[in-house]
Amino acid sequence: MINPNKIIVKADLHSHLLEKKTNPKKYWESALKQGLDVIAITEHVEYNPGKAFEILNSIKPENIILIPGMELNTSAGHVLCFGANENIYSLKELVEVGVPIEKAIEIAKQNNLLLSLSHPWGYAKDSAGYRLGRQKMNHLIEQGFVGVEAFNGILGYLSYYIFDSGFIKVPIKVFDFVEKNKILKRTPLKSVSLKMRNKMLKTREKFVINCAMAIELGQKARFVTAGSDAHSADRIGVGQIRLRVGKKIETASEFLIALKQKQNIIWTGPDLIEEKPGVYHKMKQTIKKKELLQGLKYVAMQTKNVLSITRNLSKLKARFKKKKTKDFFAFL
Ligand SMILES: [Zn+2]
Ligand SMILES: [Zn+2]
Repeated sequence: MINPNKIIVKADLHSHLLEKKTNPKKYWESALKQGLDVIAITEHVEYNPGKAFEILNSIKPENIILIPGMELNTSAGHVLCFGANENIYSLKELVEVGVPIEKAIEIAKQNNLLLSLSHPWGYAKDSAGYRLGRQKMNHLIEQGFVGVEAFNGILGYLSYYIFDSGFIKVPIKVFDFVEKNKILKRTPLKSVSLKMRNKMLKTREKFVINCAMAIELGQKARFVTAGSDAHSADRIGVGQIRLRVGKKIETASEFLIALKQKQNIIWTGPDLIEEKPGVYHKMKQTIKKKELLQGLKYVAMQTKNVLSITRNLSKLKARFKKKKTKDFFAFL
């Protein structure tokens, strides 16, 4: 039985301010609009995380908790770091780029900080899954000093985008056309189309698997986090963790203690609104073109598939132009 007296705390534990020069007022407007009770500012160590905290803290609305945090750049890739107060920004060895993960853990233990692997299966260059390999990462998680970001708003949103967007529907339409058209299906284009479709499906699958693997990894971890990884105000809150706690949480320290108790977690993922018990709908934040391009770059970097798809598509286009079948691409 759910205790009706319990309180639900909505938190976004991954956000940036200085990297893309987000307006701090808009940052707070957005956080309030999303109904967040807690937000962590986790600026990259390369972009002065202490300053980001200071700016936000100086104009912080009253009824929201700001967790001092940063996104470390360790030997295991990006790692989120949370503390009860701004003393975390004076830990010089911790904010060094390339700090060995073992050292980061030692410092975290001494200073009572929480560490959580950001996007464990995100970009190859900054994610633990790729930097350490599965076995070492699992070992690190099982030791229990590092948590896992079970949901990252950028990856989660791109996964939606790649599954259910115009961007994916356009090439699929082309493939359908080529494979079903009476004349075209007898030409070598059909096998090109099938090959490309296959590559694209694999890319989509990989994306979803990467998101699922982070959730799975979170099950092994002693504690998990979730956040939007917002680099602009309007993306704040698109990734959330919700806790159900016994008493009102009033400080960063209280929140971090509650976060460490996994049984408090009732949700990690995108921001869903519960219309009535059990009926959810998704928030409709739009993604910016820039973010979409970043996402495409990500997919291409991971699998090189999208690049080859785009290349093949333009080859296909060129071939058709030569044959003067102009209307073929008219629907694109
Ligand atoms: Zn990151
Ligand atoms: Zn980040």
